Amino acid sequence: MKNSQINSLVPPVKVVVVGSVNCDLTTYLTDFPLKNQTVMAKKSILSIGGKGVNQAIAAAKDGANVSFIGCVGDDLFASNALNYLHSHQINTDNIRAIKNESTGTASILVTDQRENIIAVAPGANWLLTVEDVYNSEALIREADVVIVQLEIPAEVVKVALELSRKHHVLSVLNPAPAADYAKSLYSLADIVTPNETEAAELTGIEVKDNDSVIEAANIMLSEGVKQVVITLGERGSYVASNEIQQFIPPFLVEALDPTGAGDVFNGVLAVARARKQPFIDAVVRASAAAALSVIKPLAQDAAPDHQQINQFLQ
Ligand code: ADP
Repeated sequence: MKNSQINSLVPPVKVVVVGSVNCDLTTYLTDFPLKNQTVMAKKSILSIGGKGVNQAIAAAKDGANVSFIGCVGDDLFASNALNYLHSHQINTDNIRAIKNESTGTASILVTDQRENIIAVAPGANWLLTVEDVYNSEALIREADVVIVQLEIPAEVVKVALELSRKHHVLSVLNPAPAADYAKSLYSLADIVTPNETEAAELTGIEVKDNDSVIEAANIMLSEGVKQVVITLGERGSYVASNEIQQFIPPFLVEALDPTGAGDVFNGVLAVARARKQPFIDAVVRASAAAALSVIKPLAQDAAPDHQQINQFLQ
């Protein structure tokens, strides 16, 4: 279903993602090579990813009008990434292409035992500047929700949240990968969404059972977070604010590939909140979308569309 058709069914909402664009090369092989060894792999797949792109795609497939603020290089990966975003009707006018720079890449090796080794070269993502965001202020002012993650420079994330606050636009901070400076951003964001590893890194609490999840969430609230959602993989999620404290159970599915579940969760959560769905309903919708994504084999295009989420929730 096209965005224009979906928008005739639900209120159109505008989402701005400030984030990373990566080209992922995933190579599947029996076992990891040793140092200085060359091995023949089974197959490789080139896909466009990065937390920013993945969350933008999830939001667009749920029917939002999505604009992206980010940077790419001037290589083949850049045109691949822009084409991919365009194919999902995402506005790329505010993506800056940098001369003589590489687009961000992730080189991923996956073994038969489903173990992985990943090397990320941030490339152009690391060259996104506060000026890029200030130049996009009009976009942020018009948005219903702004989503940021931490695969871009810290000062850029801060300005994106500051501008969202200045224009009373809802903001979602996905503190991934975890970085200590995220704590200084807590009070600027409306919703903070770590997974359990990130929650552990941000709070120093070993997040392993319900009590430790609650403890970690309480620490984050005491440090200035207004609403926190800790995602717990196949165990669902935990939502906490001054008013609500609730575990949201997962939807039971046969998981094939959990990669990127958190990105789908964030994209759909942001859209649901922008559509003014109550917080718990929005988290349930995000959980349904994330569950649908893990039953697909690849992170790219794993996000379900608006109708698939609706049908799953019926
Ligand atoms: P991340 O990808 O950031 O590590 P999680 O693994 O916590 O994020 O997953 C995000 C959300 O996706 C979870 O809160 C849950 O709702 C859903 N999810 C993840 N894995 C599964 C699974 N195996 N079965 C059902 N839902 C899942």
